[in-house]
Amino acid sequence: MTDVPEKDETGKVVMLGRCPNCSKRAVRDFRPFCSKRCADLDLGRWLTGSYAIPAVETDDPDEEDHSSSSPDKF
Ligand SMILES: [Zn+2]
Repeated sequence: MTDVPEKDETGKVVMLGRCPNCSKRAVRDFRPFCSKRCADLDLGRWLTGSYAIPAVETDDPDEEDHSSSSPDKF
């Protein structure tokens, strides 16, 4: 399914990210979350619309957020 090497069972190669909810280490079953709870929480946020979706107003349809915007760059 994925090419991401992960062997958390042996604790050798773990390329899982962090839970966007609580910054804990994500687990395979619920990634990118650390647990079902966090996954559900996140899903709930989506459903309730609490998620703040940044309105990106781009005139060019070709440019799709390729360059990370740094507001406080200079
Ligand atoms: Zn979590």
